[in-house]
Amino acid sequence: MADILLPPGTSPADFRSFLKSCEAAVGAEWVKSAPQDVLPYGHVAMPFDDDDHMPSAAICPSSIEEVKAVVAIANRLRVPLWPTSTGRNIGYGSSSVADRGTVVLDLRRMNRITDFDPELGTVVVEPGVTYHQLQEFIKTTGYDFWLDFPGPGPIVSPIGNTLERGHGVTPYGDHFAHSCGFEVLLSDGTLFRTGLGGVADTTSWQAFRYGYGPTLDGIFTQSNFGIVTKMGLWLMPAPAAHKTVIAHWPDPSDIVRLTDTVRGLRLDGTIQTEGVLGNAGIFLAATRRKAEVYDGPGAIPQEMAVAELKKMGLGAWNYVFTLYGRPDRVEADWQEARARLEAAGATLIPDAKDEQQINELTLKSFALFNWIGGGGLTWCAPVSPMRGTDMQRQLELARSITDRHGVDFMVGTAFGERAALNVMPLTYDRADKAQMARVRACYTEMVDAMAGAGFGMYRTSVGFMDQVASLHGQANLDINRRIKRALDPSGIIAPGKSGIRV
Ligand code: ADP
Repeated sequence: MADILLPPGTSPADFRSFLKSCEAAVGAEWVKSAPQDVLPYGHVAMPFDDDDHMPSAAICPSSIEEVKAVVAIANRLRVPLWPTSTGRNIGYGSSSVADRGTVVLDLRRMNRITDFDPELGTVVVEPGVTYHQLQEFIKTTGYDFWLDFPGPGPIVSPIGNTLERGHGVTPYGDHFAHSCGFEVLLSDGTLFRTGLGGVADTTSWQAFRYGYGPTLDGIFTQSNFGIVTKMGLWLMPAPAAHKTVIAHWPDPSDIVRLTDTVRGLRLDGTIQTEGVLGNAGIFLAATRRKAEVYDGPGAIPQEMAVAELKKMGLGAWNYVFTLYGRPDRVEADWQEARARLEAAGATLIPDAKDEQQINELTLKSFALFNWIGGGGLTWCAPVSPMRGTDMQRQLELARSITDRHGVDFMVGTAFGERAALNVMPLTYDRADKAQMARVRACYTEMVDAMAGAGFGMYRTSVGFMDQVASLHGQANLDINRRIKRALDPSGIIAPGKSGIRV
């Protein structure tokens, strides 16, 4: 067993004993330790070698009883476990682990929808439930509810995405804000429910998020304090009408007036959803291959990307949003949005389509992988206040860094009411190690430069968690560590997640 990867701090004998006990708990076929079975769990798109974040094994329980048994074994033998729901957090680490050798706790087999309330529009799901499964389930009920899902929609899970505080593009786009009630297993075997889930025969677990006393849901997102085994989720009643619009602007400097205009429309509720603002680079990458449009060295020049977009009838900035509601409301909002966007220099395409904004599951977001080819992608996601001047400052800083590293500048922005999440895919060919190193250096510099300019990140991948965590101050690191020590004193759950360790 000498050449076998071990969990950090675990002896070969303890690891053998762990695997054997897990086989007894979940069945031998659900304990993956042969290299060919473990490799897929360590396969990443982020700019690191697979081996850097490779787990030593994966355990696949199918019920809460089995999860409890595995956690008890892990606690006894001090084997760290990295819980994943569907493990498709692609570009943020997929199902890989922060500390090499950590065992993946793959919860895909826990895929039950345990509650549905058609009057309140709520469901309760287990970790392995995908958006596709949930949508198919809703169809069988005969009720008309919509889901909000992230880019890779069909194949990922509401729990995984919500715990990462992911976003979609409908009025329910802030996934954490539309979750209601977690069931959480702690490393000592305690199973508890947040919100009003602790009340005997609770009637309101999925109706009221805050419960009584401290609201704890947030501490289980982007963290490693517990394993979420169930989650309540609010469903959006299908709107009576909707209209998708693309507003585009010709020049990169238009970011200032467009941001200030969209902020007003978001704050007064004319536009109820984040939609997506894409620069020319990301729109081009979604439809073409780089080699077709640019064969020079380094990043595609911005002017060239903008010129290509003009040929497609689009601009340097392209904001795709949908208006929802009764037909008269949609019409009134459209007239209002049109007047204000046109006054801010936009050209409007009034009858556009974006599947993700109207409850149609699609895998179109994977088209980004075709731009360069070779499977490399990592998301760099700084947050900007919804102020034109801040957006311009952040995006120009970002572009100066991507240009310097020869990385194509792409950004897809989620427009909140007061904050914009500028999510930048850095794509590359994983077979080209020099390109991968450039993307890694670019990301590292971006994180530091953003922090130096007063901007933080919305989310990051397992390869950069320590760096991002270190930029939030010692007090912040310490408080997370104190909570970790209280809830998981042996550090069994996901060591290194968000830079948190005992
Ligand atoms: P996706 O839905 O995109 O496939 P993942 O299952 O990959 O999401 O989850 C993303 C990350 O969220 C994981 O790497 C892990 O850190 C955390 N996570 C996912 N599911 C759970 C869970 N049930 N309990 C605790 N943390 C989780």
